[in-house]
Amino acid sequence: MSQISIKEPSVVIREKRLGTINAFTGAASEIVEQSAKGQLKDCKRKFSQCLGCNQQQAFCQLAMIRDAVVIDHAPIGCAGEFADFNFTYRVEQARRDLPPALGRYFCTNILEKDTVFGAAKKLEETIRLAYDRVHPNAIFVTTSCASGIIGEDIEAVVDQASKELGIPVVTCTCEGFRSKIWTTGFDAAYHTVLRGIVKPAEKKTNKVNIINFWGSHVFDDIVRRFGYEPQYIIPFSTVEELSHVSEAAASIHICPSLSTYMGAGLNQLHDVPEVLVPPAYGVAGTDRWLRAFGKLVGKEEIAEEIIKEGHEKYVPEIDKLKEKFKGKRAYVTAGAAHGQALITLLGELGMDVVGAAVFHHDPVYDSGDDKLDILGQAVKNYGDVPDYRVCNKQACELVNALNRIKPDLILARHGGMTLWGAKFGIPSLLIGDEQFGIGYKGALNYARRIDDALDSIEFIKNYSKHASNPYTKWWFDQDPGYFQGDGSGKGCAQGRGGF
Ligand code: SF4
Repeated sequence: MSQISIKEPSVVIREKRLGTINAFTGAASEIVEQSAKGQLKDCKRKFSQCLGCNQQQAFCQLAMIRDAVVIDHAPIGCAGEFADFNFTYRVEQARRDLPPALGRYFCTNILEKDTVFGAAKKLEETIRLAYDRVHPNAIFVTTSCASGIIGEDIEAVVDQASKELGIPVVTCTCEGFRSKIWTTGFDAAYHTVLRGIVKPAEKKTNKVNIINFWGSHVFDDIVRRFGYEPQYIIPFSTVEELSHVSEAAASIHICPSLSTYMGAGLNQLHDVPEVLVPPAYGVAGTDRWLRAFGKLVGKEEIAEEIIKEGHEKYVPEIDKLKEKFKGKRAYVTAGAAHGQALITLLGELGMDVVGAAVFHHDPVYDSGDDKLDILGQAVKNYGDVPDYRVCNKQACELVNALNRIKPDLILARHGGMTLWGAKFGIPSLLIGDEQFGIGYKGALNYARRIDDALDSIEFIKNYSKHASNPYTKWWFDQDPGYFQGDGSGKGCAQGRGGF
């Protein structure tokens, strides 16, 4: 278990806190075994085709707090994600019937001369300007590589501003170079909220924190049935709501990769218990999750009622579709815990998961509880995944692996990954909403969508005949993990699996 401390402004990065890695080639059983024994080693890359930034992940949690401002203390190029998040913010407002509002994002526009003479003054001025323009209830200052290199005392600036303005002004230290595991940015955002916004509980309420991105509200009926109120955090919360999340009865993870730090922080600092079993994916997974939640809130009989109803209502159609999927070979590409949840779901739907490319791997979560080992349980219940690679969105590696495996279906959580399936004539399914697959209905949702995707085979095959591919024969002759390892070009298969 990692000890969460909010005394320091910076979160301890995932590599150090959890032993997280972002390069591995082997079988799923091997990464599970090495994780359990504490033997997992990162396999460095000698070339990266693309990289993510911690700042972007921090931003995705802070940017949709409805009455806060985010100031990116950075060169303007780092603020490229503003447009992206503003788009998502507006789309999700519409889905929630909220009045349209622009995201309130500012950038200090650090220039070359500021890296020599300092940028603290710019930050002070931007905080005042942001406050005067929109009167937010909190201001978050996200740091960047440039502000990190300058090394000024940003804490002194935000503390002074907080006193002057009478609202929380809090730093979120998420410089891209701090951690090569970009999900450290989620932790940085949660650290910021735990440190600067969440107040000690005055009372306990019947709310349940659902720590999520901005997914659909599938927990409403489930949580209410147990007599509790769902509270989806952090996007679309207000500062006031966030200040009281310590009063909740429990926290739910929709994806431990996302929320391990927040869940453990609320547990350790404010006694909010977490549901510590894998998210409710698949019928068996939903049974297990409902029983764990029922036990946590002392209402196990309600869990049994929901399980009975869910089986009666959804399982017959799921079973019918399962017959159609027998013998189909699937490939998954997604963030770590979500990818593992999808492997579980596909295994339950009777498909053979022959490969996966997940973006990082946490050998353990902040709770330290091995009941959250989603991959270990998937391997035990549905068999091994022979080509399991930890691959932080390196398209060249994914494309090379797909070319060898040629699965019948690709399941992806992020845009930009499924087009490769189409180019190879493989039906591909992109589902961004993590809550789409939750519960019995979620299992049926996926089964129906997979059925539709498999039906598109003729169209996709036809499409692939007209698709171009930028990769050469030389690349396809190399091992997919060619750029991992010691530079020998032989990859870095830590286990016996892979190619
Ligand atoms: S913080 Fe660093 S890694 Fe992130 S966008 Fe800016 S320069 Fe790039």
